[in-house]
Amino acid sequence: MTCPHCGAPVNDGAKFCQSCGAAVPQAPLYAQSSSPCPPAPVYPHLSVGGYFIMLLLSLIPVVNIVMFFVWAFGSENPSRRNFGRAQLLILLIGVVLCVLFGAALLSLFSLLVSSR
Ligand SMILES: [Zn+2]
Repeated sequence: MTCPHCGAPVNDGAKFCQSCGAAVPQAPLYAQSSSPCPPAPVYPHLSVGGYFIMLLLSLIPVVNIVMFFVWAFGSENPSRRNFGRAQLLILLIGVVLCVLFGAALLSLFSLLVSSR
């Protein structure tokens, strides 16, 4: 390698340039990393049967809500977990819309009754 300060050739492993005395940057020791990252766990893809059972359970009232919570917070598989969370989100939006429309209909009804 060469000195970054004066460009003179520097011996490998030398800390200072023999020509100008400038400090020579040491090559980073990537290979000697003492704490490598642990490999991320690999989850198998959900099979067609797995999706089939999941969608079938989603169609059963009451059972589906329980299963959504189980999948959303109890499943190790990220695909099943995300499916459960997405379904819970849809459920939440549905409940909010029902409450809003219900309140609107109720106020409309009471308006019609009182105007009579
Ligand atoms: Zn130098």
